[in-house]
Amino acid sequence: MTISYLALGSNLGDRLETLQKAVKLLDQEPEIQVIKKSKLYETLPYGDVPQENYYNAVIQINTTYDPLQLLNKTQAIEKKLGRERLIHWGPRTLDIDILLMNGEKIATDRLTIPHKEMLKRSFVLVPLKDVYSEETYQGKSFDQLIATTGNQAEVWLSKESW
Ligand code: AMP
Repeated sequence: MTISYLALGSNLGDRLETLQKAVKLLDQEPEIQVIKKSKLYETLPYGDVPQENYYNAVIQINTTYDPLQLLNKTQAIEKKLGRERLIHWGPRTLDIDILLMNGEKIATDRLTIPHKEMLKRSFVLVPLKDVYSEETYQGKSFDQLIATTGNQAEVWLSKESW
């Protein structure tokens, strides 16, 4: 069993319903068990393309899939829930990023773990703090890590519960 962390984001269509469905589909996979869900956050979109705010969350899962098998599963779920990627940095129905898989380090064309951008993004670190198994990551508290991103004001707790 590998403890892994997945970041979920949606800013197109019924964002809350999409994230809920994604969690359900992940949990229904025979080799994935959803252990913990972060709170739900709202985030300003990045880039210059005008679009709705994102809904973001992070979940902790247990899985017996290897990293590429897990990526295949998350990509199939993105596709199933109608991900649209018409424009780079544009709106998307569902984005699932694999943040961490135990202490795994991978750098291939298809997959980088730990996720390349995770330490730059408050919308990942803030929900990760809710579910991460320890108080610190790489010797730093999450508050320190979040402060370093400089974009902590762009993420806030959603009024919706999930
Ligand atoms: P994006 O949806 O823009 O975040 O990027 C999707 C692409 O990133 C896919 O083609 C994946 O193969 C690649 N990728 C690399 N590392 C990861 C990761 N840790 N989690 C999810 N996708 C990844």
